[in-house]
Amino acid sequence: QIILGIESSCDETSVGIVRNEHELLANVITSQIKSHQRFGGVVPEVASRHHLEYINYCIEEAIKQAKIKKSDLNGIACTYGPGLAGCLMVGLTAAKVMAADLNLPFYGVNHMAGHIYAAAIDHKIKFPALALLVSGGHTEFVYMKDELSFEIIGTTLDDAVGEAYDKIGRLIGFNYPAGKTIDEAAKKGTANYELPRPMMNRPDLNFSFSGLKTAVRDLVEKEKRHGTLEVNDLAASFQEAVVEVLISKTKKALNQISVRELIVGGGVAANSLLKSKLIELIQIDFPHCQLTIPPLRLCGDNGAMIAAFGSVLAKNQITSPLTLDSDPGLSFNFSLT
Ligand code: ATP
Ligand code: MG
Ligand code: FE
Repeated sequence: QIILGIESSCDETSVGIVRNEHELLANVITSQIKSHQRFGGVVPEVASRHHLEYINYCIEEAIKQAKIKKSDLNGIACTYGPGLAGCLMVGLTAAKVMAADLNLPFYGVNHMAGHIYAAAIDHKIKFPALALLVSGGHTEFVYMKDELSFEIIGTTLDDAVGEAYDKIGRLIGFNYPAGKTIDEAAKKGTANYELPRPMMNRPDLNFSFSGLKTAVRDLVEKEKRHGTLEVNDLAASFQEAVVEVLISKTKKALNQISVRELIVGGGVAANSLLKSKLIELIQIDFPHCQLTIPPLRLCGDNGAMIAAFGSVLAKNQITSPLTLDSDPGLSFNFSLT
């Protein structure tokens, strides 16, 4: 079973190819970051135009990298939500045209399910599993009793973690997206600024990051007035606050429900402190739970993760009609079993 997956929900045009669920044959990712940087965020119209320009290249390049012919493909998968409407439409149209043209089954994929399945590209997930999704638009705990069920058991009440990173980055003059830059600055600094840990001691599994963002903004303004802002220390303090909250809530979640695997997904899964603290948490408190953090290139948006979940849909013969519409606000509480 060879499935091709298309991703165009935000600012990456990407096509991946996966064989037999777990073998990555190709993953071509073109990023538009340069075009959006001067605006400090993703501009939807600019993004759609980019997707239109790159989608065919990505498809051809992925087929070439995979060393297969189009006729070897067994199905086409594509993100249909959540994401930016115009962007989703470009990928979806390309996918449907391909499926119709090659007479192949078509699989509509929820982008967030894709982020989870990035972890499944090199191994079989053990269920029940818990996913911690941390990206530019989401911060969520998702409980999966089996490979086709997704139940949100905790979420952010305001900003997503990645969004908080990007907003703090803008405050201190880092380019968008700022997650990686803050992560690197944090390694050079000391976490000696005092910042709040919002919602950390509440018993539920929800998050809130907008208060932390405001606290950082006030602090930055004050330090700038006095000319004493230490950017690396601020990055370290912010990162420590964020990671402490994420780790504490993850511990709470794992104490509340029993799972065999913890999957971390989304762009923020690339964060070095989060990674090392998660490894520590699992080693000390939950040694029987397997921890899976996908490699860097699979953490951000990519076509391979869409092909990976598409492969699961294919195995279960859950196809989508070619009339499937994009759904920018697609929710993530669903079960296909
Ligand atoms: P969503 O998946 O919710 O629709 P998205 O696709 O924009 O949102 P991703 O591409 O999964 O999100 O992740 C991008 C986010 O990850 C950005 O906010 C970026 O700053 C953040 N990020 C990337 N690397 C790191 C890092 N090392 N530390 C912290 N954040 C990071
Ligand atoms: Mg992105
Ligand atoms: Fe994403």
